[in-house]
Amino acid sequence: MLIYVHVPFCAHKCPYCDFNSHVRRAPDWRRYTAALIAELEWRLAQPQWHGRQATTLYFGGGTPSLAPVALVAEVMATLMRHRVLADDAEVSLEANPGSLDGDKLDGWRAAGVNRLSIGVQSVDAAQLRWLERIHSAEEGVAAVALAHARGWENVGVDLIYGLPNQSLAQWQRQLTAVMALQPAHFSCYQLTVEEGTPLARRHAAAPYPLPHQEQAAEMLLWTRSALAEAGWPAYEVSNYARAGMACRHNDGYWRYADYLAIGAGACGKYDCPDGGVVRYSNLRHPESYMARVEQGGDPAAERERRNRCEAAAEAVWLGLRRSDGIANAPFASRFGAAPLARFARALQPWLRRGVVTADAETVRLTEQGLLLADAVAADVLTDVA
Ligand code: SF4
Repeated sequence: MLIYVHVPFCAHKCPYCDFNSHVRRAPDWRRYTAALIAELEWRLAQPQWHGRQATTLYFGGGTPSLAPVALVAEVMATLMRHRVLADDAEVSLEANPGSLDGDKLDGWRAAGVNRLSIGVQSVDAAQLRWLERIHSAEEGVAAVALAHARGWENVGVDLIYGLPNQSLAQWQRQLTAVMALQPAHFSCYQLTVEEGTPLARRHAAAPYPLPHQEQAAEMLLWTRSALAEAGWPAYEVSNYARAGMACRHNDGYWRYADYLAIGAGACGKYDCPDGGVVRYSNLRHPESYMARVEQGGDPAAERERRNRCEAAAEAVWLGLRRSDGIANAPFASRFGAAPLARFARALQPWLRRGVVTADAETVRLTEQGLLLADAVAADVLTDVA
């Protein structure tokens, strides 16, 4: 299984963000850390998690790098006490430029973190202002350099492309500049206007000149070929890594692994004996979450049950995001038939069109097929009868 820890606080709410993040002038870190530990202890005693080992741990947010190192250290100590983490576990932390320094970097490493994901987002001053990031381009570059100087090898950089008026050439210059920093990993996501965000409201009032579909597709395909050529092949639609440096935690999501999630708004998932799955999501508001945990209650606000057919469709939808696709044998042993046989009605037309490709071992999207990933997924998700 995987373990996810959500840290929901941010210094400023970016207008495009639809994550569960909340701005607090001075978060009560002691109280939040105590709630995390209490929830973790409670969940580890539940039958679906009890006695299992975790291969990865991920501190995501929000902005986990705003938290004192003690939050990370106390979660780690709890997991050690319960002997939950595998000896070679990948332990990742999301860090934002502007909220990390040498002491924190050293403290996280001493606590057991061995992978950083740094939210650089852009190295263009005007774009960073538009995104309302709290850091400059120079601080983004300096954060990666500082992590390297402090001995971190497994450092990922997160970038956003497809901003208003951004040309392919401008994106090419940016990515090339960041490649020079030699991170181990890249996550490059196209800006999307998410419903309910300030960006969506502004865009509805006066539309931004965002790249159209063909331009965005051109940016994605160029990114994939340029990074592959330079030694960071894609292992997922938007994620790229040096050999052996793929994020095992995120890859676990796409492989449909179970994940125990704790924290305000955290979403977890576990398999059921009948082949279905349960998904739960915690109360999103940090104060409500802490109060519920302090009262000894289950902090989940929602719980959804998927039957075996629905779970199989989800596993295909997620697995097709991986460059290696879905391995037929484990899928068949879990769901009774390989993906192409189980979802023949949805997948065969895409196979004939060259969007999906298959051999005896796997089924996956072709490089051009990546652009139609959402349409393929929609067909699979409706083919559950
Ligand atoms: S820093 Fe990240 S989580 Fe926080 S508001 Fe910005 S995009 Fe959202």
